[in-house]
Amino acid sequence: MAYEDLKREIVEAFVFLEEHGMNWAYSGNISVRVGEDLFLLSPSGVWKARMKPEDVLLVTGDGKVLEGNGKPSVEFKTHVAIYRARRDVKAVVHAHPIYAGIIAAKRVDIEPVLEELTFYVGGTIRVASYAPSGTEELARNAVEALGDKKAVILANHGVVACGSSLEEALAVLGYVERAAKVAVYSMLIGGVHPLPREAETLERELYVQKLHRAMSQ
Ligand SMILES: [Zn+2]
Repeated sequence: MAYEDLKREIVEAFVFLEEHGMNWAYSGNISVRVGEDLFLLSPSGVWKARMKPEDVLLVTGDGKVLEGNGKPSVEFKTHVAIYRARRDVKAVVHAHPIYAGIIAAKRVDIEPVLEELTFYVGGTIRVASYAPSGTEELARNAVEALGDKKAVILANHGVVACGSSLEEALAVLGYVERAAKVAVYSMLIGGVHPLPREAETLERELYVQKLHRAMSQ
């Protein structure tokens, strides 16, 4: 089986997400870029945390299955649009976490009130304009709202997190869910202090430096 270790990592990632309340059952999808136009992708219609490494598909960017028996998720369009727009991205994790789900339904951007958000995710996490699941329009909206950051929220839907490795994309998803939880509680307590502008600028500079290093690899 080609890419055996990466396939196992994808399954383990779904188990981790489900154990931490960041995804559930048939929802969500993960892809990893393994070649110029070649990806490992979780299949649609299976309980993600219960699938086996051999269930993971090897697909081309237009969704042609080269290995595996399942069907690619319709949401793969969004993954591919991100890979095409961002050379630094090697893995995309799409999931439906609870707090980010509240933010997705409320449709408010998550401001970086904690330093970690700008350093690890790039700054304000934007909510992409609504479009139905699996459409080219959703893929376009997601890429536009993602910009040079590592995550975007899909209105009334969920989160797309990306990284230069599957580990980084998972970490980013966790930062987004933590930030979403902070944002939801902040609304309940009547607001919080913003991060001082100088601190945000410094964290953002550090983020951009890391991004440029990843782009040049
Ligand atoms: Zn979804």
